[in-house]
Amino acid sequence: MADSIVYLGTGGTIAGSASSAQDNLSYTSGRVPLGDLLAALPGLPERLGTHAMLHEQVFQEDSKDMDLSHWQVLAARVAHHLGSASVRGVVITHGTDTLEETAFYLARTLPASLLAGKPVVMTCAMRPATSLSPDGPQNLRDATVVAATSGAHGLMLVCQGQVLDGAQVQKIHPYQLNPFDAGDHGMVGVVEETQLRLLGGWPRPVPDRAVKTLAGRPTSGQDFPRVEIVFNHNGADGAIVRALCAPPSQGDAPVQGIVLAGTGNGTMHRGLEAALRAAQSLGVTVVRTTRCARGRVLPRADGRGEAFPILELSPVKARIELMLQLAARQAAA
Ligand code: ASP
Repeated sequence: MADSIVYLGTGGTIAGSASSAQDNLSYTSGRVPLGDLLAALPGLPERLGTHAMLHEQVFQEDSKDMDLSHWQVLAARVAHHLGSASVRGVVITHGTDTLEETAFYLARTLPASLLAGKPVVMTCAMRPATSLSPDGPQNLRDATVVAATSGAHGLMLVCQGQVLDGAQVQKIHPYQLNPFDAGDHGMVGVVEETQLRLLGGWPRPVPDRAVKTLAGRPTSGQDFPRVEIVFNHNGADGAIVRALCAPPSQGDAPVQGIVLAGTGNGTMHRGLEAALRAAQSLGVTVVRTTRCARGRVLPRADGRGEAFPILELSPVKARIELMLQLAARQAAA
């Protein structure tokens, strides 16, 4: 039997539906079934070539509403398909709003041995499927081109012809059709018409980070420790951190980690620093990132601020990394 490309649908604007074809904002995400999107895609059989096609609606969500359980279900389905000898690659349709978080979670939790041999290509849209001029079909076609390319492997995002390392992407615009950027990492390649032009190498596995990493990964269904993101800004006096560390309301999990989205090179107001040190002394793990869109926090030669280890990730990705590490630590205890 021919190798298959497996499409996994999770919802998002690419599956969105609006009452007017001229309305690209007041629509409902995650309405059009993945099977319908694929059936309506011109040229799909040509792009698949000798590959067979399978599709599965994993869920239908606006990605702003996703939580850990969605990640776990999706990761399990991706791992299942990648593990099958007859599957060549996986394409995932996903909302743009939290795509970078799902991508980082997948890159960080899928076995590296699976990603080293096969492609997982995420794709999306900024206009609903019912739009006058939807962008989803072209993105889905381009994602198919990448997934069907011989030798393709690793986790990627394909949007507006750009092929980006999935673990590096960040949504940087709320409206434009090309809302993603991979910062300093540049592009993996571009899809031009129906050809992939590789510019860099295929994505590499996500490395373990500076915070003490422990073996093991959370098992499906395990709750992640609660980790919150706190920004530094003018007048950040630490009140938010004190509120986070107060006894939780009924039903809320206690905070176990805080990601500082610092200014510049991970700096923080002295009031916020004092509050974070107090949180740390209560057993809360605090890590430092930057709220800058690009780059990473670098250690200072004089060691100031080093009470809070640096994570070389954006704040939202650092939150996932810290949750994974705290969960692994707890699972190993
Ligand atoms: N709110 C939508 C989502 O993330 C936005 C999009 O897909 O562009 O599901």
